Amino acid sequence: MTDYEIVIGLEVHAQVLTRSKMFCRCAAEYASAPPNTLVCPICLGLPGVLPTINRAAVEKTIMTGLALNCAIAQFSRFDRKNYHYPDLMKGYQVSQYALPLCREGWLAFDAPDGTARRVGIRRVHLEEDTAKLYHRRGPDGQAVSLVDVNRSGVPLMEIVSEPEIQSAEEAGRYLAKLRAILRYLGVSTGNMEEGAFRCDANVSVRRRGERELGVKVEVKNMNSFRAVVLALEFEAERQVAALERGERIEQETRGWVETGSITVSQRTKEYAHDYRYFPEPDLPPLVVTPAWLEELRARIPELPDAKRVRLAREHGLPADVAAQLAESLSTADLFEQAVARGAPVRAAANWITGEVFRLGRSGPGVVDVGQVTAERLAELLSMVEKGTISPASAKDVLAEVYRTGAEPAALVEQRGLRQVSDTAELERIIDEVIQQNAKAVADVQAGKQQAIGALLGGVMRATGGKANAQLATRLLRERLGL
Ligand SMILES: [Zn+2]
Repeated sequence: MTDYEIVIGLEVHAQVLTRSKMFCRCAAEYASAPPNTLVCPICLGLPGVLPTINRAAVEKTIMTGLALNCAIAQFSRFDRKNYHYPDLMKGYQVSQYALPLCREGWLAFDAPDGTARRVGIRRVHLEEDTAKLYHRRGPDGQAVSLVDVNRSGVPLMEIVSEPEIQSAEEAGRYLAKLRAILRYLGVSTGNMEEGAFRCDANVSVRRRGERELGVKVEVKNMNSFRAVVLALEFEAERQVAALERGERIEQETRGWVETGSITVSQRTKEYAHDYRYFPEPDLPPLVVTPAWLEELRARIPELPDAKRVRLAREHGLPADVAAQLAESLSTADLFEQAVARGAPVRAAANWITGEVFRLGRSGPGVVDVGQVTAERLAELLSMVEKGTISPASAKDVLAEVYRTGAEPAALVEQRGLRQVSDTAELERIIDEVIQQNAKAVADVQAGKQQAIGALLGGVMRATGGKANAQLATRLLRERLGL
């Protein structure tokens, strides 16, 4: 394996967050709608209808191109990609081929070894999604395929990298960063499991030092970040083993089979000329004026890299903590707003990257902060800081706040979590415990440090478990002259 280099290029199809579809007025949010209810003559592909271009989809794609450091074409065009498949209503897909909207950019991310990596973006273009097929069994046991046209015509951005990714793990990093940027921009949910962020890969291997690329194999059906990493690892190893046996690599499409953790051949690869691309005659060329471009540039928010640098600088956070917070806009905002409401910086950062991540992180760059608002977090942390509640109780409270949006102070009262942090009261209780436990006191004074535990236990019992343990330990040690 070490004699070989892995070369990976990724193609991501991200569903663009728009209200309506790419070329008609049907609603684009198809996930929860009953089958074939979001359809019209245009997305059904009936003859004699005319499509119109969705401006919001174009704008969000241009913003993505800008965020990925691309050149934006002043003049681009839609093309027809012709092929026949039951999920393609018209017999062609409207896409962009010769003149894409965005070209020649790059994406920076941290490589697994911590070094900064930059991978070229070949193009970002717009196209429409296909219908969805369901393969089922009919009442008589026969295999049937059902078509749901709701997804047909939903806008997709295709983001194509240069073949510059060097390992499966690096591919995972690239995808995580790309998804974070799309989510920061608000142009896509990036939800891989729901199909809003799909990834295909081209994988080839070559002996180290060779200039020419090896024969590339396209890998599909990877439905999670983990699947991408596993599939690409498997595929690279498969190709190396084949070359070592003196075999040739076939140019083909292979599918990842999750259950077997293998890729299997699906079909030999088609070439671009198989699709008979030609300009879409029903749509005008797409012209992006300088003024429009500047308007869109001004709409781009602070992106993850800038955010993490600023968080580290403004709040004095270590680089890795700032990077974790900036991974998702939801956590970066929660942190900054909680700090603005008086939450201590380090505590806020630790509780978010610890507990909030544990409760709501569903993958790289995706953290659902639930019902935890900056006000609620600041209130909770203030109670921990003042010793009103123990850190252990605070974890339970946070989990409940996360789920229900309850107010922390009310929860603490309701559950009786307020701890005894009153020094005078604790000292009074400690004196009682010391009087009643002469043997333990003698043990401690004879050097048996662990006997302190028995005394602390006495304090806890006397307070119904509500003594501030840290404070009680300190006062107890002071009383015993330790
Ligand atoms: Zn429609």
